[in-house]
Amino acid sequence: MPRAWLNWYARVARETLLAAREGRCGVYGEAVARLVAELRRLPGIGQRTAERLAFHLVVSPKPEALGLAEAIKDVKENVRPCSTCKNVTERDPCELCADESRDRALICVVERPMDVLAVEKLGIFRGLYHVLLGSISLLDGVDAKDLTIDRLVERIRKAKETAVPVREVILATNPNFDGDATALHLRASLDKLGVRVTRIARGLPSGSSLEVASKAILAEAIEGRRDF
Ligand SMILES: [Zn+2]
Repeated sequence: MPRAWLNWYARVARETLLAAREGRCGVYGEAVARLVAELRRLPGIGQRTAERLAFHLVVSPKPEALGLAEAIKDVKENVRPCSTCKNVTERDPCELCADESRDRALICVVERPMDVLAVEKLGIFRGLYHVLLGSISLLDGVDAKDLTIDRLVERIRKAKETAVPVREVILATNPNFDGDATALHLRASLDKLGVRVTRIARGLPSGSSLEVASKAILAEAIEGRRDF
């Protein structure tokens, strides 16, 4: 059994045991306690929300609850990372990489598959993507080698030998400490590849005003100005 699975089982068992010790099992039984423990592992879900969702599933019709279980199973069995851009996909290469109408010389680098969705929703970007599957984080112990940076470098190198070499890489990692650290590392990694490396602009959110902006945001907005 893979180590990650063993860790996962150990964590769920520990949380179920904790629930039993705290008397929560006595309230709603071991099966529900396990479901609550599972739901709590999801991002943004606390104990109360987990309990509310668990009891919703308990009282909802069986086909509805099992439909959710089936959907999760389907996703885990059929969705995988695209071998080119590492975005999640059911087909390899993914639809975006396979789309011949997109500008193959332009790559937008993002941290997570959700970021691809966010940029795609804008409908203004017609290049390709590269998903890092995270960001460098000292706090969470995530190193550059844990990301798909080597794969990006290799991708750009390979493209050099084709009719459409990569012209520009847009670093669209998050505008926070980890995202900036990742962008700096990427810039160094891409330095000798002869591609233009750009970083997404940052500054004032649309609809805000100068007087309420923080000094740092206002400074970034002025530094990131463009011709008008
Ligand atoms: Zn792809």
